[in-house]
Amino acid sequence: MQERVRSAQLYEEAKKHIVGGVNSPSRSFKAVGGGAPVFMKRAEGAYFWDADGNRYIDYLAAFGPIITGHAHPHVTEAIVRAARNGTLYGTATEGEITLARMLKEAIPSMDKVRFVNSGTEAVMTTIRVARAATKRNKIVKFAGCYHGHSDLVLVAAGSGPSTLGIPDSAGIPVSIASEVITVPFNELDGLKLALERWGDDVAAVMVEPIVGNFGMVMPKPGFLEGVCRLAREAGALVIYDEVITAFRFHYGSTQTFSAAFPDLAAIEPDLTALGKIIGGGLPIGAYGGRREVMEQVAPLGPAYQAGTMAGNPASVAAGIACLEVLREPGVYARMESLATRLTGGLAESAARYGVPLTINRIVGAFSTHFCDHPVTNYDEAQDTDGELFARFFREMLERGVYLAPSKYEAWFLTTAHTDADIDATLEAAEASFKAIGQ
Ligand code: PLP
Repeated sequence: MQERVRSAQLYEEAKKHIVGGVNSPSRSFKAVGGGAPVFMKRAEGAYFWDADGNRYIDYLAAFGPIITGHAHPHVTEAIVRAARNGTLYGTATEGEITLARMLKEAIPSMDKVRFVNSGTEAVMTTIRVARAATKRNKIVKFAGCYHGHSDLVLVAAGSGPSTLGIPDSAGIPVSIASEVITVPFNELDGLKLALERWGDDVAAVMVEPIVGNFGMVMPKPGFLEGVCRLAREAGALVIYDEVITAFRFHYGSTQTFSAAFPDLAAIEPDLTALGKIIGGGLPIGAYGGRREVMEQVAPLGPAYQAGTMAGNPASVAAGIACLEVLREPGVYARMESLATRLTGGLAESAARYGVPLTINRIVGAFSTHFCDHPVTNYDEAQDTDGELFARFFREMLERGVYLAPSKYEAWFLTTAHTDADIDATLEAAEASFKAIGQ
């Protein structure tokens, strides 16, 4: 069992200066019983070490971006080289063209790209661009999908798909939330109803095409095709939020994931938002789409979007290096084979100790839901045992395995995880399920 004295001290100090002691609420341990979060000090490969010197096998991967493992030599060298040449110019650079070209080659629906600084910014701007292109106001989104923290997407469902949204956070005017309609994921009836009622003022239907924010949830066969078809029939654009999914399951995004989707043409969006992996661990976001839609953006068009830090040379260099690693043959197959063995072992251990567990795995990412029913939408993801997850999380932490501190977040494999890491994780899981089981 580990000592985390220094983390506890740092938490007390952090709370004096930083609101809640953390710079993003998902880093706090509020959803897993509270107390001091672990303060990390160093990371390399599949591991990080905390301020007390404890080592953890990392399945958080910084909520997704760290797909090549921490401090990957190729990515690190690119960042150091970029930093030596100056970290910010406020001008155009050649690196931006290289990364834009790589993104376009991997995701051909993006004729034009624009770099921003985060997934939040990317999504926020796709909405503005869609509104500019359609001259409409409203957005339809799906319950439980997270699209960053801008006003329009921090909106929950009203009392049903036939009502307008209510703000999900203090500080968001009801007038803004009323421009958003939230409908259930993985069924088309709610979307149909919403479009019948408000279709002529809907600028875009926004979706995480494979969900990463209430666990990993695949769209049911025909769902994405239906979303695209219904949106277009209503004259609305389709926006894919691929901030988590792009380059996570294969070298490309959901819309190019032919192994999972037989008819890619039927699921092509008008606009795509990107982030996380494409910055190789440095801050980045990007959005792109059809030429005539993207040409709404300034300086070509009337939709304004700008950024002092946008296209930061170090972020761009890290992104290029990260994609170069992911382009190597066999990278995704290896993550998939490790994840398959890991999820198989987790399921066996859970069953041995009578712990109900549903696992949703897609290639090298998966989610563990403490329940005995399938999880295909937000209602089902909510209807799971958060307390049991919290106990499992703590048991795993004590045994040196770091999971995201929320029952909704995924486990991410990286190119740095090894068979030995999977063995060690399964050993920790066996003891953890035993400790929490009946
Ligand atoms: N979209 C999705 C699907 C996300 O998962 C996230 C973050 O987790 C965002 C957007 C926001 O990205 P960022 O945290 O970089 O602002």
